[in-house]
Amino acid sequence: MHEAPEYTRVVFDTSGPVKYDLFTLSDPSRVVIDLENASLAPGFDPGMAVLGRQRVKGMRAAPRGNGYRVVLDVTGKLSPKGFVLAPVPPYGHRLVVDLYSDSTDRAALVPIAQPAGRRDVVIAIDAGHGGDDPGALGVGRIREKHIVLSLAKQLATRFNEASGYRAVLVRKADYYVSLRRRMQIARAERADLFISIHADAFKSASVNGVSVYTLSDRGASSETARWLAEKENSSDLIGGVGDVSLDDKDDLLAHVLLDLSMDANRLASIEAGAAVLGKLGRVARLHKKRVEQAGFVVLKSPDIPSVLIETGYISNPAEARQLNRADYQSRIVGAIYAGLRLYFESSPPAGTLLAYRREQGDVSYTIESGDTLSGIAARYGTSAESIRRVNGLSTDRIRVGQVILIPTNS
Ligand SMILES: [Zn+2]
Repeated sequence: MHEAPEYTRVVFDTSGPVKYDLFTLSDPSRVVIDLENASLAPGFDPGMAVLGRQRVKGMRAAPRGNGYRVVLDVTGKLSPKGFVLAPVPPYGHRLVVDLYSDSTDRAALVPIAQPAGRRDVVIAIDAGHGGDDPGALGVGRIREKHIVLSLAKQLATRFNEASGYRAVLVRKADYYVSLRRRMQIARAERADLFISIHADAFKSASVNGVSVYTLSDRGASSETARWLAEKENSSDLIGGVGDVSLDDKDDLLAHVLLDLSMDANRLASIEAGAAVLGKLGRVARLHKKRVEQAGFVVLKSPDIPSVLIETGYISNPAEARQLNRADYQSRIVGAIYAGLRLYFESSPPAGTLLAYRREQGDVSYTIESGDTLSGIAARYGTSAESIRRVNGLSTDRIRVGQVILIPTNS
């Protein structure tokens, strides 16, 4: 079982394709799954699977005719949705039952209100895969879904500590989010940038290095990119969640407007990607020296510049071990962070605090070894108090590599 904010996913591994009947009963609330021609695998304990679950309190199973009946005791009224999945390595046949909480908590996300002209730059950080989609598998049980969630959380912390930025985690824990839903979450938050973090596998274990992708014009630009694009897009197949199509109306005007928006965004995406790639090149080996293009679904938001970073190849044993280490992760996160700040500070979106500060003539400064806040203030003819206020700092503590803004007109 996997808990997501909107649903609990129950996955049955089956030895062959399964026929099933799914329905609910009330007083008390239950979800019943009748499996045809089935028997329980030896050693399976239904009670163990439900320990500590939010929506499922208990699971019982018993033979029924020549099949098997599974009963889930659930908390309140849930809407179940079931589907079967054909084998996708490393998995065999599966039956998936998603238990959705009723209506209210599936309502649209409400963006935080901020004063006009001083809003934060919003960065949607998307950790790839999750839940029953583990992504790539590396040596020593290293899994892409865990590595990328760790990187995403660290990156979010860096941005949330900086004034003028707000990070939103598209996936907050170990659960699956459909690719279209990832884009919807970013749009609901009115994100200024969408960044998807991955660490994939390749057929050959010797392939390594960091890659940065933006959406391609005509699909993939290289054999590697095409292979990866197919693999990432098949995530929706793996997740099997209802693929809500986004703005794909066949209307001619909509098409033209979408094309224009897409063009502007693709340019911005490439600029942001290039800034990140430049910084990553200092801390990691690059797979390619320029931003690559591919047809990844998550990059297809027509109105949000979107970048996908392959932080390395988990199929390469050395790189997998490296990606699993805290110091390497923090270097990668630091480089992505520095690259995106460089991009946003050179072209701040209209209406943001960043744009406002640029108009005010504030300058950004990177802390070096030996710097103190009072020393920097003296050099720029301002006060430590003003610097603290502009950057939202509560103490004089600074660290090497930290980027701060220095007010020059106060
Ligand atoms: Zn991936």
